[in-house]
Amino acid sequence: MDFEVPDEHRLIRDTVREFCEAEIRPIAQEIEDDHRFPAEVFAALSDLDVLGIPIGESYGGLGGDQLMYALVTEEIGRVSGGIGLSYAAHVSLGAKPIETFGTEAQKERWLRPLTEGGELGAWALTEPGSGSDASAMETTAEYDADADEYVLNGTKQFITNANVANSVLVKAVTDPDAGTDGISTFIVDPDADDGFEVTTVWEKMGLNCSPTCEVSLDDVRIPADRLLGEEGDGWEQTMQTLDGGRISIAALSVGLAQGAYEAAKEYAGEREQFGKPIAKFDAIRDKIVHMHRQIERARLLTHRAATRYDAGEDVTRESALAKLDASEAAREVAEEAVQTLGGYGYTTDFAPQRFYRDAKLMEIGEGTSEIQHVVIGRELGL
Ligand SMILES: Cc1cc2nc3c(=O)[nH]c(=O)nc-3n(C[C@H](O)[C@H](O)[C@H](O)COP(=O)(O)OP(=O)(O)OC[C@H]3O[C@@H](n4cnc5c(N)ncnc54)[C@H](O)[C@@H]3O)c2cc1C
Repeated sequence: MDFEVPDEHRLIRDTVREFCEAEIRPIAQEIEDDHRFPAEVFAALSDLDVLGIPIGESYGGLGGDQLMYALVTEEIGRVSGGIGLSYAAHVSLGAKPIETFGTEAQKERWLRPLTEGGELGAWALTEPGSGSDASAMETTAEYDADADEYVLNGTKQFITNANVANSVLVKAVTDPDAGTDGISTFIVDPDADDGFEVTTVWEKMGLNCSPTCEVSLDDVRIPADRLLGEEGDGWEQTMQTLDGGRISIAALSVGLAQGAYEAAKEYAGEREQFGKPIAKFDAIRDKIVHMHRQIERARLLTHRAATRYDAGEDVTRESALAKLDASEAAREVAEEAVQTLGGYGYTTDFAPQRFYRDAKLMEIGEGTSEIQHVVIGRELGL
């Protein structure tokens, strides 16, 4: 794959790989077992200057591109799906929309802390009653002209990082009669805005070092200058944000698959049964070759989507395709990695079980696989 990765990208990727091996791999299972969000890892990622990779330097970002961001997300996913998910949610969902849609003042106040200040972002679209059908949201934002404020009420569901974030981009209905043109985005400050409350941090089958929260908004008053873009822009912003976000979930999936594959390959070369390494049995060799094939394909689709995104092309089909393929590959590769390790694969002493549990979310978050089929079908004119 390296033939198409520029030197500058390779340098950052290698730096992040070294960091992941030294600082994340040794704690990856422990933070899962303890359900602990590793704030110290995010502080270190901030010091490495990777919390704002695809954000312009003038706003404290690295000024990199989507390909560089995908490479780094893959590296993090290769050792910890949970850290990878919180990282991707911060960059693609919490920070990037402020750069794309925000005013200069909003970028200074809300984006810069996310790129160079070690703070974290989150993005609240999903609700208890609206997931795949996200535009059916019920959270409202009513304008109070006297105070020049919006008043937000509703419940948001499954919001990554909401309990550790310094800003949350909340989608709410400003005009109930306008359909998708009546949805707007607000920058909410969880610490300072009264009425914002994290009511649940979910226990999950995986990714437990990444907090997934239910959030209640009860008469949260937001100054009008924290509307992102114009009133009614929220849905179009969401579609654009997901086009980029899906590339990062694809990259994270490739990372999970790569981590599981490496563990399986290494084990198969060492574990002996019937007097020889199990890798010498056709059944095991074929599994590993198939894993390799799935990963290479998913990575190519991911890098193609990222490269086209960087060229300013419309990537709705490419990003959905990459996410669909890579998330399926991650689950299948991780499952076969567990099988390759036999009984040991079923224990938490070995990483494949963790990749297997983490991979499943990739087929659900930022649009389920069924919804990716809907998106791709639409793009194909079906
Ligand atoms: C760990 C985690 C982190 C998350 N992080 C965030 C976040 O940071 N911000 C955020 O806003 N959301 C987040 N989500 C929410 C996630 O995006 C939604 O869970 C997802 O979009 C699915 O919505 P749902 O759970 O309501 O499922 P539903 O929409 O109820 O879907 C249930 C099933 O029906 C299928 N289905 C629904 N509609 C169709 C259709 N038209 N055609 C075919 N099948 C269909 C789905 O594919 C699925 O299999 C997160 C979720 C999880 C679990």
